[in-house]
Amino acid sequence: MALSGLDIYKLLPKTNCKKCGSPTCLTFAMKLAMKKASLDQCPDVTEEAKKALDQAARPPIAAISIGSGDNEVVVGGETVLFRHEKTFYHQTAIALSVDDILPAADMDQRVKDIEEMSFERVGQHITIDMIAIVNKSGTSEKFIAALDKIIANSKKAIILASDDAKTIEEALKKCADRRPLIYAASGSNLKDMCRLSKDYKAPMAIKAKGLDELDKLSQEAMSLGAEGLVLDPLPETLNQALNDFTQIRRASLKKNYRPLGYPIISFINSDDKYRIVQDASVCIAKYAGLIVLDSLDKEVLLPIVTLRQNIYTDPQKPVTVEPKLYPFGAVDKNSPVMVTTNFSLTFYTVSPEIEASKMPAYLLVTDSEGMSVLTAWAAEKFTPEIIADTMKKLELENVVSHKKIIIPGYVSVLSGKLEDASGWNVMVGPKEASGIPKYLKEVWK
Ligand code: SF4
Repeated sequence: MALSGLDIYKLLPKTNCKKCGSPTCLTFAMKLAMKKASLDQCPDVTEEAKKALDQAARPPIAAISIGSGDNEVVVGGETVLFRHEKTFYHQTAIALSVDDILPAADMDQRVKDIEEMSFERVGQHITIDMIAIVNKSGTSEKFIAALDKIIANSKKAIILASDDAKTIEEALKKCADRRPLIYAASGSNLKDMCRLSKDYKAPMAIKAKGLDELDKLSQEAMSLGAEGLVLDPLPETLNQALNDFTQIRRASLKKNYRPLGYPIISFINSDDKYRIVQDASVCIAKYAGLIVLDSLDKEVLLPIVTLRQNIYTDPQKPVTVEPKLYPFGAVDKNSPVMVTTNFSLTFYTVSPEIEASKMPAYLLVTDSEGMSVLTAWAAEKFTPEIIADTMKKLELENVVSHKKIIIPGYVSVLSGKLEDASGWNVMVGPKEASGIPKYLKEVWK
């Protein structure tokens, strides 16, 4: 659990010497607690205090790194139960599975499909994070053959899923430099898997039915020096998953219980597409660090990545687009100009409607610090002055010849003051983006 300012203060020299730039040790302690200062700014802190503070600074759920280079995936490292308390740091990683029993051509196609799987949403490019090779065959030959294909055709982070330590070791000899996740150590192979995790510096998942057994194995793995752990309590039902995952998160955050202070992994397999979306959604919301899916269907994956994107967008840093003038179609001096804010979701709701109108048009995007139209208006980030200022900066009068600007219908109240501030004729557009095509066709002149 994070230390309070007072807890930190007790560990400082308490001389108020000001060498750290703060007027007192207490002020410095408060800054440290808020992560607005770094301990090395105090030259007189003792080694003992450094150790205690360093231990306390570690997140209650360890951040585990899987993969390497640009394809590194970090999971865990969370410090709160609910996003509104602070923020979530590492979004749930999504892996797609490749069974080693697939015929060669099917396997090639599956790996290719996983590589090419991508989605565009609110201006973000979303791809699949990892590939999990599953040792369905029970033989190391097929597992290694599948691994060879994946190494040759993908740079994504890898999960090596086999219960056989010898098979895992053969695989690690080929790909340890890519820092794969070993899945999984269990009661029957713990010592061997821990040795591999330690020797090859590979993070390792532990699987066990129920939290008591998982807790016991985790403690053993920690004492055996496993590189970094991921937990799978093997829930049999979604209800059990929700219960187990929540208990793990609460034990690590509320009790600072280290053996359960690791990210959670969940394999989600079903023939029912709705079931996959349902289970994955629950796991992403509470509290899986990684999910492994077997479905490559876009209609299954899109809602899952969308939910993940919504949960893991930091509410304090909304997704934005660049404030500027965006042309749509073959615009000319007579094209209409609409204005909106730079909240990404707003932009990507409005722009397809402009495109759908088939009328070349401009969209002027102002800097509203990522707020939507009504929120920005209420927060005085979408005011007549800001809009007029943006029009001036972007020299709108040189872009079009008509001096008419269309504002969103919800902020019709801005029209008078915007006319005064800009000298332009203000037209009130539709309230909803879906009304844009009809508006441009019937009202714009
Ligand atoms: Fe206190 Fe250290 Fe800052 Fe001096 S440098 S005021 S001892 S925290």
